[in-house]
Amino acid sequence: MPPIAFKDKPEGPTCDFCVTPDAAHWVYPCRPFTLAGIGWKSPPRWWSACDRCAEHIDSGQWRLLLNRAVETAVSAIPGEVSTELAQRIRHGTHAIQEGFYRNQDGPKLAWTAYEQSHARS
Ligand SMILES: [Zn+2]
Repeated sequence: MPPIAFKDKPEGPTCDFCVTPDAAHWVYPCRPFTLAGIGWKSPPRWWSACDRCAEHIDSGQWRLLLNRAVETAVSAIPGEVSTELAQRIRHGTHAIQEGFYRNQDGPKLAWTAYEQSHARS
């Protein structure tokens, strides 16, 4: 499985959790971290989120967040997805979300506020 590629900072409104394009209305601050086991590096600071993922994050519904992310990741793969691959995706996604949970260091900002505050930097 190729590593999931995240940009240095959100440039377009794609959700970093469920990877739904044109759906992110929020950004969350998070200390950067790496997951050596799966060769994955977090965004340096900001994670974008769609309304549904933000709802799960803010209410601490981590299992719902994980299920949603795994479902969208699996459905984005063409053809049949083996049980083994689905489990690998679930395992990797769980590790990433757990890292976010441990390193999130502030409440979400509206995407528009984020965009305005970074527009002239
Ligand atoms: Zn999402």
